[in-house]
Amino acid sequence: MCYNYNMQKNDIFEAEVLDLTHEALGVVRVEGFPFFIENALPGELIKFKVIKLGKTFGFGKLLELIKKSANRVESADLTFLRTGIADLAHLTYSEQLKFKKAQVETVLSKVGIELPVEDTIGAEHILAYRNKAQIPVREKDGQLETGFFRKNSHDLVPITDFYIQNPEIDQLILAVRDLLHREKLTAYDERTNTGLVRNIVIRWAHQTNELMLVLVLSKMTKINFEALIAGFPNINSIMLSIKTDKGNAILGKSFKLIYGQDFISDELLGKKFKISAQSFYQVNSEQAEVLYQLAYDEADLQMNDVIIDAYSGIGTIGICIADKVAKVYGMEVISQAVENADCNAKLNHLTNTHYEVGKAEDIMAKWLSNGITADVVFVDPPRKGLDESFITATVETGPRAVIYISCNPASFARDAAHFQRLGYRLEKVQPVDLFPQTHHVELVSKFTKI
Ligand code: SAH
Repeated sequence: MCYNYNMQKNDIFEAEVLDLTHEALGVVRVEGFPFFIENALPGELIKFKVIKLGKTFGFGKLLELIKKSANRVESADLTFLRTGIADLAHLTYSEQLKFKKAQVETVLSKVGIELPVEDTIGAEHILAYRNKAQIPVREKDGQLETGFFRKNSHDLVPITDFYIQNPEIDQLILAVRDLLHREKLTAYDERTNTGLVRNIVIRWAHQTNELMLVLVLSKMTKINFEALIAGFPNINSIMLSIKTDKGNAILGKSFKLIYGQDFISDELLGKKFKISAQSFYQVNSEQAEVLYQLAYDEADLQMNDVIIDAYSGIGTIGICIADKVAKVYGMEVISQAVENADCNAKLNHLTNTHYEVGKAEDIMAKWLSNGITADVVFVDPPRKGLDESFITATVETGPRAVIYISCNPASFARDAAHFQRLGYRLEKVQPVDLFPQTHHVELVSKFTKI
């Protein structure tokens, strides 16, 4: 695609929206040159202004919807699109599900896998489902505010109703904000690296209703939480986390327990779990249960099976089925999560689990050389997907099936092609909607040994 030298920033064009990017931006072409535009849906005729012009693509700002899509949700609040909290809220839910399936099909066909993808399994609750919030605290117009950053910026948009979060979490955020006002505490300013309060992190457990609050501060400070605790009797954990560096991680390295315990308890598929602040836990508990159940159904587990639960977090995937198999091995890089997994195995009276701290790729190779084999390997990596050496070691381990849960279709497709080259065939790909109203895609898939 070549840059058209006649085009300038601030130019205004009319065009038809042809597609949606994987990040839910509308795609238009002007003389073949692509522009990406927020709040524009396929089939719509729009007027837009050029706001950024690159060499091979540009960005536009929607000025007018000349012809609207029948799939548009007219009532969608643009704040949720602008902040990325719910960047698909303007698309009907049934179309969101089709969009997610199409994302997976597209990336698979790019790597030469022409497998029909199953229809995305939708959620029963498409609003207020999130069990976790990470809310920046910044000063806005002279006042400490809580909200969300505008996309691709650190400009805080004050928000009180977060739409896709459990309302209990929204209420706690406001109560914390009011407490910070009463205590006359300052908000962090990243330009000058001054100010005290950086982030509010909250977790809510869907079965027990327990709440965890972590206040991320730039230095240790005494704060009186008594009124907050009185207002939220289900708070089970309050911690301060001290973050002094400028890095992108939300939580700091050190934690101080202020009230209750340093974990909250929840239940998934009838098993009990303790979750610490640093550990990963799926943000949509109801749909996580659907996802895990599909993973088990695909695995067709037998009582004498040995399974590996790679990227095991707090042990959810292995622990839910440990009493239906002979042995569960798990590995995970965050030591607190592995402590949770060991503790969670005991909590559920299991004696056949074994967890190790470390990189999945290193531990898989070590287990292989120690002669540990598995009948089924479950993998559930972060967005970047699997390391090639992990795939090689898994294939050498020789399980009858690999059940791959992915939150990133692109890295999944790359890894799927690799498994296929090494003699494992992709049999089934099932997207499950864990993130209604957003562009995020989750899927469960099955590979079998040829
Ligand atoms: N299976 C768990 C966690 C999945 S999230 C659940 O369903 O809750 C992915 C996990 O992989 C996170 O806990 C993250 O800490 C861990 N992780 C990231 N990189 C890793 C690596 N190289 N090796 C092992 N674990 C890793």
